[in-house]
Amino acid sequence: MKKLITVIGARPQFIKAAAVSRSIIESGQINEVIIHTGQHYDVNMSDVFFDELSIPRPNYNLDIHGVSHGAMTGRMLEGIEDILKSEKPDMLMVYGDTNSTIAGALAAKKLHIPVAHIEAGLRSFNMKMPEEINRILTDRISDLLFCPTDTAVKNLEDEGYDSLENQVIKVGDVMQDAALFYSSRAKRPDGIPHGEFVLSTVHRAANTDNPTRLNQIFDGLKRFSEIMPVVLPLHPRTKGALKKNGISTEGITVIDPVGYLEMVWLLQNSSLVCTDSGGLQKEAFFFESPCVTVRDQTEWVELIEFGYNVLANPDSADDIFEKMSGAVKRTDQDWGRDLYGKGAASSLIVNTILDF
Ligand code: UDP
Repeated sequence: MKKLITVIGARPQFIKAAAVSRSIIESGQINEVIIHTGQHYDVNMSDVFFDELSIPRPNYNLDIHGVSHGAMTGRMLEGIEDILKSEKPDMLMVYGDTNSTIAGALAAKKLHIPVAHIEAGLRSFNMKMPEEINRILTDRISDLLFCPTDTAVKNLEDEGYDSLENQVIKVGDVMQDAALFYSSRAKRPDGIPHGEFVLSTVHRAANTDNPTRLNQIFDGLKRFSEIMPVVLPLHPRTKGALKKNGISTEGITVIDPVGYLEMVWLLQNSSLVCTDSGGLQKEAFFFESPCVTVRDQTEWVELIEFGYNVLANPDSADDIFEKMSGAVKRTDQDWGRDLYGKGAASSLIVNTILDF
């Protein structure tokens, strides 16, 4: 039996881990030990996912949050290293691009424990994003690089990964596995208006940390809410930024962050998604909603290429409003394209780990 340590800490990682942990359990050949770093800790940002999605309870919780990027990553590194020394796993697995991702990968690599990175090869080509720094560094020290898309594989090839001693494998996206598995378990959240609505989320630091920009984004959403209700599960970081800067959300249906099953219902029933989330851009596609992404660039370029997603200028309420107006009218999409592996990613990952 192989021993695998998984490090997770943020909401999107819980959802991805739900899909992969299920495949791990099904294999019956891997003993998974889970470390929760504590990066996201609220009931509705963490516990709800473990409860609803049957993710195995973390064996360790480092409870690290509410400190700067450097302090957070440093404390995680130290905590994870201690656990690795006592657990002596055969491999460590990390997801995505958060501080928990780089801390886990770095702690393991220094102890010569092989690292598997799920969602490898993504690039925004914007080194101001903390996520971009985390993903580039994690990729470089990973042994198994599980790429969700052809573009991710190409990004790594362009960086010379063909000549390195690691394996770059396109497996598809584990978020599609999760979307397919949970789509029949969707739950309607309370307080949602009847009829058509837009689903919106805003939480990227580049948007919440810039008051002028945040104001423009919420202005665009408020204007659109006069045409169609906008439902917005509010991320704690954004809640704090809105309050600090006195930005109103009048007209928008603001709700607390929801669990994934409620999110799936919102995705299934929305006429449009407007977001700065990475994951939600793909989920809009999985659940056949057009998407407007309020960012200057995206890692999920294939969605833009095929017209499922369009970028809106985060500094311009006018542009956001216009892009939303244009996208909501689109009815000519072919939603059947296989861009993310159609739900096979988790089992491919588990089989590769077993062969390693
Ligand atoms: N999500 C959720 N509840 C919410 C908002 C988002 O379950 O209130 C899910 C969403 O469906 C997606 C994931 O969280 O699966 C995306 O996480 P987030 O937007 O926080 O991070 P990103 O994908 O941008 O890294």
